[in-house]
Amino acid sequence: MTTTRFAPSPTGYIHVGNLRTALMNFLIARKAGGTFILRIDDTDPERSKEAYVDAIKQDLEWLGLTWDRVERQSERFDRYAEAADKLREIGRFYEAFETPTELDLKRKKQLNMGKPPVYDRAALSLSDADKDALRAERGNGVWRFKLDQERIEWTDGILGDISIDAASVSDPVLIRGDGQVLYTIASVVDDTDMGVTHVVRGSDHVTNTATQIQIMAALGHGHPEFAHHSLLTGPQGEALSKRLGTLALRDLREAGVKPMALLSLMARLGSSDPVELRTDMAELIEGFDITRFGSAPTKFDAEDLYPLTARYLQTLPLAAVTTELDAIGVPADQQDTFWAVAKENITTLKDLEGWWILCRDGAEPLIADEDKDFIAEAMALLPEGPYDSESWGKWTAEVKEKTGRKGKGLFMPLRKAVTGMERGPDMSALLSLMQVVRARG
Ligand code: GLU
Repeated sequence: MTTTRFAPSPTGYIHVGNLRTALMNFLIARKAGGTFILRIDDTDPERSKEAYVDAIKQDLEWLGLTWDRVERQSERFDRYAEAADKLREIGRFYEAFETPTELDLKRKKQLNMGKPPVYDRAALSLSDADKDALRAERGNGVWRFKLDQERIEWTDGILGDISIDAASVSDPVLIRGDGQVLYTIASVVDDTDMGVTHVVRGSDHVTNTATQIQIMAALGHGHPEFAHHSLLTGPQGEALSKRLGTLALRDLREAGVKPMALLSLMARLGSSDPVELRTDMAELIEGFDITRFGSAPTKFDAEDLYPLTARYLQTLPLAAVTTELDAIGVPADQQDTFWAVAKENITTLKDLEGWWILCRDGAEPLIADEDKDFIAEAMALLPEGPYDSESWGKWTAEVKEKTGRKGKGLFMPLRKAVTGMERGPDMSALLSLMQVVRARG
């Protein structure tokens, strides 16, 4: 049974980078008819906030990324303690007392000598008496997992064959001096207990994966299949990590981006499949193939979300937008025509209001000097409203006959005078919705 999980730490709002992880895990589970777990990684009581847990759920619900169950690490400390005991029993867990400053100094020395900054395992040679003395002086030490110094290998679902020399990695700290259990061990215990079969996460976790594979083995378990997706960069290839805060899913929602536009982009970006708008989650699931993703950093441009959103909106029937149309005051009997006209000319639903104000109040006319007389003559021929779908055709035919103008020279000045713009919706439909034409004077 395929089981995947999305495991955010509730220390902030989730952004497009997190979405990439969530979506891949979701799509794998759904495509296989398996289970998708939302796992809240809240072992850090200071930084974890309930408000972020709620926000993460809201964001995923908005996107339709439904989970089968929620698990919380803060409810599983007993299991982590059992795993820690087991590691102690088998001699793979040791207490170390270096202060952060001491560790920093060791790292600097190693780097100066051209060596990789790997923890030197000095704590392994401490006697029980040394440890007692250090504990009395500094409090409890941290607990490190003793890596087997061999190559750790796996076939990654995206990166292919990986081989990491464990000797180039510091023995990971799994429990802090204050007793706080760290993600590295909590995640191992959870993935095992919950039968997680596939773990997709960012390539910043590759070293974690290496150590977690050894921890799982030490606890007597195999490991799930791992796939590490590339990290997102900005459109010019610049690091996105600092800007991710401005790409929170809720900000995109607020800006009017639609879920299927966002999902269509994120489910294909960085893969060899083209980005195409999908309006249906089932299609997105069906077409997903993780083996088509590459390891190169993936360029993300939030601007790409807007044409996709526009195209998505064009597919919507009136029934999908009546709430928005009611909210801006479009009368029920005009909504059908208004939506048909407006949907071709909006990027997000926020743009609807501008078009409605134009229909309701008219626009400041745009009249070039050389068209002044022409417009005055044309406006004298425009009857007072209400207009219908024939009005524009009849009026422009009459103006053409009386003034001799035709083609662009006829239509463009009229469009500009009526709408105040050079471009926009089909004029027959638009005029039929207009209650005021300000150029009439
Ligand atoms: N809480 C971890 C993170 O957000 C989860 C990583 C993982 O998927 O194992 O980075």
